[in-house]
Amino acid sequence: MEPQAVALVESEDDIHRLLQYAVARGIPLTARAAGTNLTGSAIGSGIILDVSRLHRILEINREERWARVQPGIVLAELNAQLARQGLMFGPDPSSGDMCKLGGMLANNSAGPHTLRYGAVKDNVEKLRICLVSGAWLDARSYAIDDPAAAALLFSHPAVQETWSLVRAQADLLEQKRPRVSKNSCGYNLFGLAEGLARGQLDLPKLFIGSEGTLGIFSEATIRLVDKPRATLTAVIHFKRLEDVGEAVPQLLGLHPSALEVMDANTLDLIGRSRHGIPADSAATLLAELDADGPTVDLHEQAERMAAVCRRYPLASAMVTAYDPEQREQLWKARKALYPTLYRFDPRKKPINFVDDVVVPAARISELIRYLEEFFGSQRVPVAIFGHIGNGNAHIVPLLDVNDEGDYRKMVQGYHDIHRTVLDRFGGSICGEHGDGRVRAEFVPAMFGAELYDLFVKVKRCFDPGGVLNPGVKISDRPFTDHIDHIRLSKTCATCAKCNAVCPVYDVFRSEDMSSRGWFEIVTDKNYSYLNSKRVVEACLNCKSCRTACPAGVDVSQLILNRRAEHPNALAGLVFRFHANTKRFALFLKWLARFQSLWDRPLMRRILDVISRPMLKYLGPGARLSSRIALPKLAVLQLRERHAGLTTSAGETPRSKVAYFHGCAANYFDDGVGDAVIAVLRTHGIEPDLPPQRCSGTPIETYGHRNLAKEGARENLRAFAEYDTVVTGCASCTLMLKDYGTLFAGEPEQSAAEALAQRVKHIAEFVERSAVQPAMAPAAESQQRVTYHSSCHLRAAGVTKEPRAILKKLPGVEYVEMPDADRCAGGAGTYLVKDFDTSQRIVARKREAVESSGATLVATSCPACMIQLKTGLPPGVEVKHIAQVLQESYEAARRRAGETPS
Ligand SMILES: Cc1cc2nc3c(=O)[nH]c(=O)nc-3n(C[C@H](O)[C@H](O)[C@H](O)COP(=O)(O)OP(=O)(O)OC[C@H]3O[C@@H](n4cnc5c(N)ncnc54)[C@H](O)[C@@H]3O)c2cc1C
Ligand code: SF4
Ligand code: SF4
Repeated sequence: MEPQAVALVESEDDIHRLLQYAVARGIPLTARAAGTNLTGSAIGSGIILDVSRLHRILEINREERWARVQPGIVLAELNAQLARQGLMFGPDPSSGDMCKLGGMLANNSAGPHTLRYGAVKDNVEKLRICLVSGAWLDARSYAIDDPAAAALLFSHPAVQETWSLVRAQADLLEQKRPRVSKNSCGYNLFGLAEGLARGQLDLPKLFIGSEGTLGIFSEATIRLVDKPRATLTAVIHFKRLEDVGEAVPQLLGLHPSALEVMDANTLDLIGRSRHGIPADSAATLLAELDADGPTVDLHEQAERMAAVCRRYPLASAMVTAYDPEQREQLWKARKALYPTLYRFDPRKKPINFVDDVVVPAARISELIRYLEEFFGSQRVPVAIFGHIGNGNAHIVPLLDVNDEGDYRKMVQGYHDIHRTVLDRFGGSICGEHGDGRVRAEFVPAMFGAELYDLFVKVKRCFDPGGVLNPGVKISDRPFTDHIDHIRLSKTCATCAKCNAVCPVYDVFRSEDMSSRGWFEIVTDKNYSYLNSKRVVEACLNCKSCRTACPAGVDVSQLILNRRAEHPNALAGLVFRFHANTKRFALFLKWLARFQSLWDRPLMRRILDVISRPMLKYLGPGARLSSRIALPKLAVLQLRERHAGLTTSAGETPRSKVAYFHGCAANYFDDGVGDAVIAVLRTHGIEPDLPPQRCSGTPIETYGHRNLAKEGARENLRAFAEYDTVVTGCASCTLMLKDYGTLFAGEPEQSAAEALAQRVKHIAEFVERSAVQPAMAPAAESQQRVTYHSSCHLRAAGVTKEPRAILKKLPGVEYVEMPDADRCAGGAGTYLVKDFDTSQRIVARKREAVESSGATLVATSCPACMIQLKTGLPPGVEVKHIAQVLQESYEAARRRAGETPS
């Protein structure tokens, strides 16, 4: 469905005016948070009201454990901030890295830990809601005899009418109340009826789970819980599915906070070997236990759990983890399961149409057996996983909806399975994902005509004109309406994991300035560069999206492909000159001689002004701001300083190890190249410095792929004979490892792939080196050091090694800063191409560094170093990881009375 307009609201006033505008003209209005729902409930044909810019925590009360929060905040960010006070919000949908509070409220979301903390409806104190009537409703629970309740009913006729309907139909509601532990189907009039029985007008219950069809939330007061002191995560592989059903009630007796299952098909689909899952595991359980007090012994609990499981044949011994990082690893496959299934087949996609059923927990094995038989008879691969402790199963068949036969199977499965869940299991068709457009058709079957009629009346009370999210929840349209066949043939699962890490989305909070949005734009059949230039040129090429995407989509590469169709002319001139390494080196040496003149504040301001008209050809926001901490250019460049190590084209290698220094280490006088060479020497290596061209990253970023390939070919030749090619720069590391993609399908591909195997970042090299040189504190007093993980090094898979090195350094207290894995906004020349955006991006990094208390930030990318030196407060030093290492080795040598190298 294509909307007519998208509005990014920034205040309650915006929400109010937009809703009144839509009501006055009868335009459908759909609220949207992160758009991760699986039911089509945040799309609409009228106005999309996107709440992403309302993302603040307004107040936290530590003592009373509540917080007032806006609806656009991402759950993971909310919890990261609450964690500083030892608190968290209990409900935890697996999409927590990307979904936002507004969507969680409107879907009554739940997750693996609902077992312990309940769903969203159990954790909300108060909601502030904009109604179609134009009034604002502060919805909380009131005692029925409270005069405030009477006043509220008087001033909100829709609430008054709904309350009268609930009072009149309390018996019907009790009779039809779902008997399973979770339900998000229909309106939660049951919650109101339960409140009535307790003498309460429990208003939040009505709106939570209403999917944007009754009003728009601008704020919620949520209840918080203490973060557990410690947590145990266990993975248990059962040989027989039936045994899981038997074991679950016993495991529930240990009061786990989470109990999750993945069936055999799911394990096959996600790849058993990739996740270390035994071939004969028929079902895998993930269990979690929390320790609230110091007296709880989690090891003892683990033993009790193992004792329960040992009664059944297991495919391997129970795996346990207590450390947060290891626990996160165990959860990783489970949390990203749905988008990961997109990797399975280019045509068959995981389709959500029976994805959220709930049955009594003890009957979950019976349900899985039934489903396996059902899909077996259809010959459809299916993944079945979910919150077994609540009896909530996610069922995701893989189908090609563009194939007529598969389409028919989908429609048949929709009706047969939902019917069976209701008639045979007495369950619910929807535990937590919401009804949306997918299940609306089946809501009458779930509750019967009489109760459905009550839902329709409630909807009319609040929204007589049907403006709020029509087609969602209360609708007679079949679920097959509006299926987007083109979208279903694409590779992206729309899970938004990439948006959660995209630095551009972080500052703009608008889908057209986001990784997921760009995927849509650049893969659209009507794509035109001219219409999309503004957004396609805004990507930093930081590759964070590629690292995060569970479906294996590389949005940055798709954007580069589009840019390659329109290379930037000015960048082309610069890079052509840069490709002539001799002349370019001479030019920079000439500039270096006069740097003390042109790099003065006044001159830099003048340079900024006079260069703007030309730099506009790089991008509309391009400028050489005088605030950029430009590196010192080298008068004597690295290759000259280490002339004895250089080799010329065609010369036989003198060493097995070559150093690919790249442009920055050669031309800048920043000590990085010298440090890499010194570190290698300390490890007993005298590296060669073969002739080399730019690895190609910045060149490709500006669309000049052929020029990047020209340089890459030279590099392939120059480094072909070396066993190991050491790098210091994050971007060079990634680009060299990625040459295989650059030359995909071309004669150079196999040589490029071979080179990728031999490239090692200096941190990888040191961590794997057999030599363990002595280290000593480099500074007089202990230094607090943190690590900024450069995006390209992360994309190259080098994340642990630099941290491991820093943790080992004597005289250093290593602290992991928040957001260490987030882009700092430097990205090659991005801080020139769009200085203002790059500064908005680095602001978050500055806060993270400040909160860590570190006085030194170690990193491994020249562009990150410039960006951090520009954006961090003056008291914080920035160094390359090789420099930090070299200083420690030299200190050890000084202590031992040796001459420094
Ligand atoms: C990989 C993956 C895993 C998932 N796992 C879970 C899970 O474990 N548990 C679970 O419950 N869900 C899960 N989901 C579904 C979904 O992520 C959640 O339901 C999530 O809470 C939706 O939040 P959102 O911010 O994406 O909302 P959106 O998709 O943007 O919106 C959801 C609904 O909320 C409404 N809405 C949004 N903001 C407002 C507002 N301010 N006022 C009124 N209405 C509003 C929208 O109109 C829409 O009806 C998963 C999804 C994915 C992709
Ligand atoms: S590109 Fe990947 S991470 Fe981004 S929305 Fe699509 S599937 Fe999710
Ligand atoms: S490369 Fe970086 S800026 Fe570009 S879409 Fe991906 S995450 Fe966003």
